[in-house]
Amino acid sequence: MRLIDGKGIAQEIRAGIQQEIASLKIRPGLAAILVGDNPASKVYVRNKRKACEEAGIYSEEHSLSDTVSTAHLLALIDRLNRNPNIHGILVQLPLPKNLNEREILDAVTPEKDIDGFHYMNVGKLVANERGFYPCTPLGIIALLKAMKVAIAGSHAVVVGRSNIVGKPAALLLLHENATVTICHSKTKNLPEICRQADILVAAIGRAWFVTADMVKEGAVVIDVGINRLEEGKLVGDVDFESVAEKTSAITPVPGGVGPMTIAMLLANTLQSAKWARKKGDESING
Ligand code: NAP
Repeated sequence: MRLIDGKGIAQEIRAGIQQEIASLKIRPGLAAILVGDNPASKVYVRNKRKACEEAGIYSEEHSLSDTVSTAHLLALIDRLNRNPNIHGILVQLPLPKNLNEREILDAVTPEKDIDGFHYMNVGKLVANERGFYPCTPLGIIALLKAMKVAIAGSHAVVVGRSNIVGKPAALLLLHENATVTICHSKTKNLPEICRQADILVAAIGRAWFVTADMVKEGAVVIDVGINRLEEGKLVGDVDFESVAEKTSAITPVPGGVGPMTIAMLLANTLQSAKWARKKGDESING
């Protein structure tokens, strides 16, 4: 069994991004919008900004009260959409219930939608066209490639069908020529389907849901889950202790998929800045 060192792989990617920013003499900019005072969201935004700083990406935070009006939030997004120093706009989810999440996410111009949540980018992902794709699924593919896992022709089973993780992960695996099965809470014979997986992606949100009897000998297991136990410990969706020995490679929690999400956010922001520069050059040169 090989332990997939997401932390180390993410660090290498971040170092590469830092180098590329320095050599291109480019200054990507990211604006994070945080509404309300959800403690977990605050930590996520702080970590993302810290990672930006380390890589040489300018970042700014817009913290708004949970009573902010839709009009105010849309006006802020509009200003950021037009700000040439900002290449990525992230709206930290979840938003308070009084705001229409879809309306807010679609207000971010697709060109700065580095989370890949705008309908336009969702469509581009489905069509396998150039665009921004969600960071956690991108991180999963990057981990598999870093570990030289043969994705093409493999049977990938994704448990979970959320718009943020399960569905885009399944599409990216499909674009890498895997044969993909998506499972969810209404799936019958789930253990039997999981046992067919060469690559098993668990994105469920339930501690230790995937047990050894659900995993084929030699499978690669990617555990996306982050579950906090009552005593405060973080565990994944996979029962690592029993499953690990059956696998050929497996991600730990923490230190697996989690660090890759931030690395991919930085990569998308740099990509956005590069596309913006190219567009600027093209308009100058006619
Ligand atoms: P979500 O929106 O709650 O989706 C969970 C999915 O799991 C749903 O599709 C659901 O099926 C399915 N599911 C729930 N119970 C099931 C069961 N008993 N059998 C089969 N399927 C079941 O969660 P999410 O946002 O995708 O996140 C999933 C996990 O990944 C969470 O632990 C989250 O914290 C973690 N996460 C980690 C990162 C990271 O950076 N590492 C990023 C995002 C999320 P239905 O659709 O039928 O309800």
